Amino acid sequence: MNNVYLLLGSNEGNRMDWFQKAIEQIEACCGMIVKKSSVYETKAWGITTQPDFLNMVIQLETEISPEELLAALINIEISLGRKRDIKWGPRLIDIDILLFNNEVIDTPRLIVPHPFLHLRRFTLAPLAEIAPYYIHPVLHKTIAQLLTVSPDNLEVHLKIGS
Ligand code: ADP
Ligand code: MG
Repeated sequence: MNNVYLLLGSNEGNRMDWFQKAIEQIEACCGMIVKKSSVYETKAWGITTQPDFLNMVIQLETEISPEELLAALINIEISLGRKRDIKWGPRLIDIDILLFNNEVIDTPRLIVPHPFLHLRRFTLAPLAEIAPYYIHPVLHKTIAQLLTVSPDNLEVHLKIGS
């Protein structure tokens, strides 16, 4: 059984609805979601003149391989209507693989741990909520430690009543 952490992100349309639909589809195709973080709201990163994002992290137990999981997640993004155009542009739903067991993967299609995991508070904050003591397999620091030393100062706050 593989232990995986996924980051969900959305900044278009009914953002919570996309999360709900993505979660249903992930459970249908990929395995069992065993933990969910709260939902956080964040200013857009990279291209900052776009709507704010919601982000959350989910923990998934799955039998499928990293490559199969990536393909399944891309299919879910497409089935929910995502179009891939602008890098870091607005998106209905983005599903990224943050961690896959303690594996280190570096292929043209898939990089795990996610290369920006340790640099972005909008990833570290929800991940630290559900996996504070998980040790980053490349940096050898816990998620809680990485959050403490994160150089990112974009505002991230809990989204309540969304
Ligand atoms: P981003 O998430 O970087 O904003 P996209 O969601 O459009 O951009 O993803 C672009 C590509 O990133 C995907 O087609 C996938 O092959 C690749 N990729 C590499 N590593 C990962 C990862 N850990 N999780 C998800 N996608 C990844
Ligand atoms: Mg992505």
